[in-house]
Amino acid sequence: MPSYEELDITPTINANATLTRLGGSIMPPEVLEAMMEAAKSFIDLPELQRRVGNRIALLTQNEACYVSSGAAGGIVVAIAACVTGNEKWAIEQLPDLTGLKNEVIVHKSQRNGYDHAVRQVGVKLIEIGWPGEAEVWHLERAINEKTAAVIWFEGALGSPGDIPLEKVIDTAHAHGVPVLVDAAAQLPPIENLWKFTQMGADGAIFSGGKDLRGPQSSGLVLGKQWLIDACALNGPPHHNIGRPMKVGKEEMVGVLAAVERYLSLDHEARASQMEEIVAGWCSELNRLDGVTATRSFPSEANQPMPRTRVQIDASVVGRTHSEILQGMRDGTPSVNAASGPDETIMLNPQTLEEGEEEIVLARLVEEIQG
Ligand SMILES: *Cc1c(COP(=O)(O)O)cnc(C)c1O
Repeated sequence: MPSYEELDITPTINANATLTRLGGSIMPPEVLEAMMEAAKSFIDLPELQRRVGNRIALLTQNEACYVSSGAAGGIVVAIAACVTGNEKWAIEQLPDLTGLKNEVIVHKSQRNGYDHAVRQVGVKLIEIGWPGEAEVWHLERAINEKTAAVIWFEGALGSPGDIPLEKVIDTAHAHGVPVLVDAAAQLPPIENLWKFTQMGADGAIFSGGKDLRGPQSSGLVLGKQWLIDACALNGPPHHNIGRPMKVGKEEMVGVLAAVERYLSLDHEARASQMEEIVAGWCSELNRLDGVTATRSFPSEANQPMPRTRVQIDASVVGRTHSEILQGMRDGTPSVNAASGPDETIMLNPQTLEEGEEEIVLARLVEEIQG
């Protein structure tokens, strides 16, 4: 059996975040077992997509759900769905937008790497407002007969001066334009699974492989039935734009198991456990000369989760924060932490397995003491 060791890959302890480049998250046994069972039989894939989607929709208080290949894949099929609806000719014609709506509106402040998934459908992004300031009339003026959708990136990507999401939804809907919310990393809080769609968004898109701890290559498009139906028509096994973003039977069942597990978690207990770890890190680190550790809140993606922010006085410690971070990554066991603003080290308990908080602390102390 191939192993990371045999492949010369050194596993790392993730005290950073649910980063794709580190593998996202660790699937719990419930998810792995569901995937193993699903892997043993042939099934009708579109039928499984519908059944799993219906179950997840019910569990998350949504009208409908499409399991995508990740949040980014979810953006592609959801934008395609907004462009084509259920028109067969349009679905087949993509990414050629001749005769189709070819504009998607976005706040200027929310532009980010993931908007490539929007542009992948061929549409143009129409920016509204200024970074830090946008008003309803900016949106009103941008909407026209070519507008396929408005995309909203929830989290830390926008700015407080953006048009509030409720207003965006009201304004877009007044002109018959759908609104999609990229909420890929917006768990916790768990209520976000229904919050954006109950607010009126046509679709809200989540990663299956971040805090949900489902398969890395899974995602959820939650929302209106028309949108989900059109996602399915644009997606596999049909030979359309979503065909290269295939979702296997194992991922479909795996992400369902992950959603069931997530809904049954004691999120308050989990939050206080994270607070305990962060407080413990702070008090231990503050004993060291040249080190100032404080609680940081919310997370880098604006989730209500604490982290420990570690300020290193290089003139006292004798090493810079980046040398320490590199030392943690290169050491044994390897620990991956984030570099924060103002040359700080950020420690995140979110992605740790039980007991790893001790190892993270020990490795950091070791590197600080050089
Ligand atoms: C992580 C993330 C994505 C991509 O999610 P995948 O499930 O990895 O495809 C998209 N948008 C935002 C804002 C994200 O944070």
